[in-house]
This record gives sequence, C-alpha cells and structure tokens, in this order.
Amino acid sequence: MRALEATTHYFNQAADQLDLTDNMRVLLRTPKREVQVQIPVEMDNGELQTFIGYRVQHDNSRGPMKGGLRYHPEVDLDEVRSLASLMTWKTAVVNIPYGGAKGGISIDPRSVSVRELERITRKFIDQIHDVIGPDTDIPAPDVGTGAEVMAWIMSQYNKYHGFNPAVVTSKPVELFGMPGREEATGRGVGIFTLKTLSRLGRKIHETSVAIQGFGNVGSYAAQFLTEAECKVVAISDVSGGYYRPDGIDIAGALKYSREHRYSLEGYTEAERISNEELLELKVDVLIPAALGGVITSDNADRVQAPIIIEAANEPIRPDADKIFSDRGMTVLPDVLANAGGVTASYFEWAQNRQHYQWGLNRVRQELDHVLSSAFERVWDMSQERSVSLRVAAYMIGIGRVGRATILGGIA
Ligand code: NAD
Repeated sequence: MRALEATTHYFNQAADQLDLTDNMRVLLRTPKREVQVQIPVEMDNGELQTFIGYRVQHDNSRGPMKGGLRYHPEVDLDEVRSLASLMTWKTAVVNIPYGGAKGGISIDPRSVSVRELERITRKFIDQIHDVIGPDTDIPAPDVGTGAEVMAWIMSQYNKYHGFNPAVVTSKPVELFGMPGREEATGRGVGIFTLKTLSRLGRKIHETSVAIQGFGNVGSYAAQFLTEAECKVVAISDVSGGYYRPDGIDIAGALKYSREHRYSLEGYTEAERISNEELLELKVDVLIPAALGGVITSDNADRVQAPIIIEAANEPIRPDADKIFSDRGMTVLPDVLANAGGVTASYFEWAQNRQHYQWGLNRVRQELDHVLSSAFERVWDMSQERSVSLRVAAYMIGIGRVGRATILGGIA
C-alpha cells in the first residue's frame, strides 16, 4: 500500500465517524496546490545533474500552510502528498493556527558535498519562492534536512523578498532560530510516552524502550526518556541496530554518532542487531523514529511491544494497524506523537514576527502545555467514542479543519 492510500484509509475511518458527506471528503482530501520542479545544478566536478523537487500545499483554512522538507532518495509525489495532508490534521490536532504542506527533493544528501547541497537547496528555492512565504507556506526540517538547510532557504528567499526570518522555522539559534526547537519533536515524543504510560498505569522506571532511528527525533526522544528513568535498550540508524538489555549509554552513543558524521556504524558498546530485529524486541515501548512503512502485515505479528509511539510519520501501514488494534495494543499516532516539532515551529514563527526571542524554559513550558491539552483531548475522545487513538486524533483534526472550511465560505 502506498503512503497516500494509507492516509486516505485513516481519513475515511474518521470521516465515517463524523458522518462527512462524500463531497466534503473530496474537498478536504484534495490538495490546494502541487508543485514539481526541475533543479539543474553544476556539481563540484563540473558535471551537470538534475534533481526533482516537490512542494504540496494541502490546506490553509486554519492558517498559513506548514510542513517539513525531506531530502531522501525515496521522495516522490505520492509520499509528499500524503505527508502534506498529515500536516493539515496534525496542526489542527494540536490546535495551532496553521494548515498543512510538505516538500522534498529526491536525493541522498550524504552522497553530495555540503557546497553541492547548498547549491541544490538555493536552486530549489529559486523555483518555489513565489509560492512560499511567512503568510502562505513555511517550510521546516524533516528527514535529511536540518538548521543549516533552513538557513540557506531563509537567505535565498530573502534575496527575492527582503528580510523575512519567519519564512522558515528551525533555523540556527544564532540566526533567528529558537532555543528548544531542535529538541522539540523528540521531547514531545518523550512527553507523550510518559503520559501514555501513566494512563495505562505503568511504572516509568520499569519501562524498557526500543527506538528505531537515531537522528533528530530518535536521539532527543532517547535522551528525554533516559533522563526520565526509562531504560532505552535498543537504538538504530541506517547502519543497523544496537541492543543492550541493561540499557544503552545514550549520551555516549550520541557522542559517538556526532563524531562519526551522525552514524552509529562501528559503535561497539552494544550487541549488533538488524533494524528488523529491533522492531520485534520484547520491550514495553517501541518508538519507530526513522521512515514510513516500516511495520506492515508482514512483520506486525512479530512485534511484541504493547505500546507503540509513532515518532516517525506513517511508520505503520493500515493492515498492521488493524492487527495491533485486534491485539489490544496501544498505538499513539503520528498526527499527535510527533506534533512537538510543528508546535515549537509555531512558537519560533510567532517570535520572528514580533522580533522577540523566548528562553528555553518558556519554550519547554509552553510546549508541555499545548501537547498535554492535545493528548487529553485525543485520549478522552478515544474513550468517549470507543475508537482508536488514531481515529480519535483524525476526528479532532478533520472536525476542526472542516468547520473552518465551512465558516470561511466555500462557494
Ligand atoms: P533525521 O534525518 O534526523 O534522522 C533519521 C534517522 O533515521 C537517522 O538516524 C537515519 O540513519 C535513520 N534511518 C534512515 N533510514 C533508515 C532505515 N532504513 N532503517 C533505520 N533507520 C534509518 O530525521 P528526523 O528529523 O529525526 O525524522 C525522523 C522521522 O520523524 C521522520 O519520519 C520525520 O518525518 C518525522 N518527523 C520529524 C520532525 C522533525 O522536527 N525533525 C517532526 C515531525 C516528524
């Protein structure tokens, strides 16, 4: 099943609960605008290479569209469409005044030099600067992009439109960024994990956790949960998995990864396992924090963790989701679980517009407040309507977007 089919499946489950008409479903599902551009770039060796870039703007009924930019070889229009719609429901679930968008370039960023990556990014912005902006569509990082890429985007956009730091979020703190933004998605995943454990009556210090993906989201989630006294027994990245039943030294693993161009390859303080084996470990909490589609009906029966926190976008395909639901497992869905990132992005954007910067404590406090309210709302809806947490979250998101669409006037 392709990514968009999966999102549509979840959308329809919630739309059934909300009794949405077919016409309204089509309206809410259809993206406002899709852009695909050619990015021709001269590489360091003088050769010409052409990349393809995408930006899908899904919905702006609740505010400017917001969503990450992914640099990965598997980026295609289907995936970007799916992730753009997910952003629309996500911003609505946490009730921040944004719509949803997503973009990406089909490229392995590790296969090009830093200078080449900068040229590719600036050329991409040359192609799309007219359709993004602080009041229309605000990119942010996703897989394969980070603060450095955001700084290039701001600089290139400003060449056309003048000083506009709010055109992009998760910038370096020294360049109109915000302390606490980089950690926010992983921190949010950690906050949600603790809240889920508490609702299920489980003891935090007796909880073992396996995390797939040790990039921005996975590594900050691992740090937060370790500090909260959970035992993180397995981590992984594209080089494979690392398992240590008595708990991985997360600070040490992070230092190792940073010293090796953000790779755990060669890390010897834990047993080597595969990424597939990590997903099937007997742990209390599984946190997929890498790519989409890693749990399907092929491996769902072998997943043993009773709690799954979807830190990545779309890690569980609907056939697997059904298996987990039948088995009575708790799945905290991506539209809520990784919403800490976009929530902190909203804080950064709002501060940029006021030319003001909050301190780290205030960022963390406000983040905790927004995420806690969203969690309670989703949990309660799930109980009231006897639906999964995913259907409950989609119901809240779609309900808010649907009401804004109607109130704004359609015809
Ligand atoms: P990242 O590029 O910083 O890290 C990705 C990690 O996944 C890396 O450790 C990489 O080695 C690993 N990985 C890649 N392919 C893998 C594979 N086949 N098997 C195992 N590991 C693999 O990306 P990120 O920003 O941490 O994003 C991770 C997920 O979280 C994505 O699904 C993204 O959409 C989602 N997300 C990120 C943010 C954010 O603020 N960065 C916000 C919301 C959601």
